[in-house]
Formats: sequence, C-alpha cells, structure tokens
Amino acid sequence: RISKEKGDELSNLAVAVRIRPMNSRELAHVGAANVVSVKGNNLYVKSSPIGNSAVCMDHIFQYDHIFWSCDENDSVYSSQEIVYQTLGAPLLKSALKGYNACLFAYGQTGSGKSFSMMGRNEADIESDEYAGIIPRFCKDIFSHIRNLPDNSSATLDVSYFEIYNEKIHDLLLVQDCSSKTALKVREHPMLGPYVENLSIHSVKTYNELRNWMLIGNRNRATAATSMNEKSSRSHSIFTIEISLTEGLDEGVNGNGKRSRISLVDLAGSERLSNSYNSEEKIRQGVCINKSLLTLGKVISSLADQKKKQFVPYRDSVLTWLLRESLGGNSMTTMLATITPANLHVDETLATLRYACQAR
Ligand code: ADP
Repeated sequence: RISKEKGDELSNLAVAVRIRPMNSRELAHVGAANVVSVKGNNLYVKSSPIGNSAVCMDHIFQYDHIFWSCDENDSVYSSQEIVYQTLGAPLLKSALKGYNACLFAYGQTGSGKSFSMMGRNEADIESDEYAGIIPRFCKDIFSHIRNLPDNSSATLDVSYFEIYNEKIHDLLLVQDCSSKTALKVREHPMLGPYVENLSIHSVKTYNELRNWMLIGNRNRATAATSMNEKSSRSHSIFTIEISLTEGLDEGVNGNGKRSRISLVDLAGSERLSNSYNSEEKIRQGVCINKSLLTLGKVISSLADQKKKQFVPYRDSVLTWLLRESLGGNSMTTMLATITPANLHVDETLATLRYACQAR
C-alpha cells in the first residue's frame, strides 16, 4: 500500500492483480501458452511467445499485490480468503475508523471480476472456498460489530445500483425490475453527490444484508439477459454505509463516525481497449465507456498529487458519485483481473497498463 501525503490529506491507493487459471477454450487454442509469470511483486508478460524461447520476457510490471491462481504454481496460489484478507479486510478496518473506501475490479470480460467480487456462482456464494470479497465483507462487518464495546452501537445501510450507458438503475427494487427508470445524480451541499430516489435499506443482521445482496444480483442478472451482454457493459456498485456511535452511556451526544464503502464490479475493460480498430469497434457495438475512461484519469491524477492536477470527477457518473470515496482520506483499491493465456495478451497488457496508472 502506498501512502501519499497531499496537503493535510492522506490518500491511500493500492493496486493488485489477480491471474485466473486458463480456461478450456484458451487451452484448446492452437499454440496455447501461458505468457504471464510472477516473482515477488513483479509480473512479467511475454508478448510474442509463439516460436520464441521461454526466457523472452518483454514486459515487467510492479504491483502492491499479485494473486496467482494457476495450478502449476501451487506454492503461491491465492484463495478467495487470501484475496479478501489482503484487499477487503483493510478497507473494513479503516471504514470502522470512519474513513470511506472503494474497491474496483477491472479487467476484460471473463477475466474474473465477478468471481473475485461476488464469488463463483450464486449456489456457493457463501461457501468458504468460493465466496468473493462482497459476501466475506458482509460477514466480517457483523463479526466486528458483535465485538463493539457495550456503550457503542452501529447502524448499517445498504444500496446496490448499476450504471449502464451513464444511466443509473436501482438493483434493490423488489417489484418490477424490468421497467426500471433511470435515476438522477444530485448534489447535497454538505454530503456531496448522491443518487436521488435510490432505495437505501437498513439492516440489522447478516441475513438481511445477504438477502439484499442476492436480490441485487438477481436483478442484475435479469437485466443482463433481457439486454444482450449488458453485464459486461455496466458497472455495479454495492455500497454499505456504517454509522458508529460511541459513548452512549455518557448521556448526550456520543461520538459518531460515519463511513461509506463502495465495492465496484466495473464494465469489461475491452470497452476501453485499443486492440480493436475503430471500424471493428463500431461493428461490434463496442463503445468507449466514459466512466471507465474517467476513472483511469481520476486515479492517475490522485496517484500523482505532487503535480496538483485537476481531478476530473465530474466527467462521468461513476467518478462523480464516488467523489467522496476517492482521494482525500479514503482508501482506494484497484484489483485488475487477467488471464495468463497468449490468446488475450493484448487485452491483458492494456489492463496491466491501466492498473499501473495508479502507482
Ligand atoms: P468477469 O466478471 O470478469 O466477466 P468471471 O468472474 O465471470 O469474469 O470469470 C469468468 C470465468 O472464470 C468464470 O467461470 C469463473 O468461475 C472463472 N474464474 C475467474 N477467476 C477465477 C479464479 N481466480 N480461479 C478460478 N476460476 C476463476
């Protein structure tokens, strides 16, 4: 984790990469090869492995954490629990101290964003082995709350929405999710940007929180099947607000801390990539995703505060809404997900470069 002083503020950015195992389609490809290797915090990519010797290492990247999931490298295999303990648990700790936090999963469609954020699939979303960061986070919050001192109390509010084509849709509307109308962003003079009319649900138990998470996932999946490929083009934002009150038994106003944690599964990064020419992009209906592009700019300007750059939060719905959770005293974590297969080496390099902006 890199800490950078900026005036009286401390901005915390961490960048991690997770490599998923090759899938059967990638392995069946003629000349299939693994082009990614890891040594400590260095990640190497061979960009032209076919016909070249195995020692040809063309690109080197450095990250705060690298999670390897390939079978041939069992000694450093990173489970879902290790990923949660490394990336999710520190955000929860800082949130309980009153800081906002954001975690983004970034990568091409099929590289492991949902696997990392939510889990392998709905059936084993709570299993020890396959649950992703969000369900583990939900569980962990309650184990922390149970251990609060007697004179403290906590309230939790959850919301879950997606941004598709710069429009916001609530994922926690129980009835009639098909006729969802787009919600608007407003700005509160004290609290900053917020989604007008977004449903926000108070939860008292883990089961309540988990049920909202499942409803949101189902609404997201329903919307995805009714509109071709939508899930790869939309960003989903799962937000938990924690309010902690200490010193209740001292009578009057206890000490209050409020923080917001946003866990974000971003649209597929192929929406940004240069690896298609523009004619092909138009043909495939691939359009540059404004929120992805702006998030990259915002994160790189936050990472380079010495230059005192202007931070273009307002340029996209995602960055505008997350303004209070990016920069300042907030903790921001970027998890880039990639495949090690040579078949996708161009997308992989684009993802790794995007993630490097934050370092
Ligand atoms: P994305 O959300 O980026 O489109 P997914 O998370 O749906 O991608 O992953 C695509 C496929 O790869 C899924 O079948 C998923 O179970 C598998 N997968 C992804 N990451 C891993 C991993 N680290 N270990 C094992 N399987 C993975």
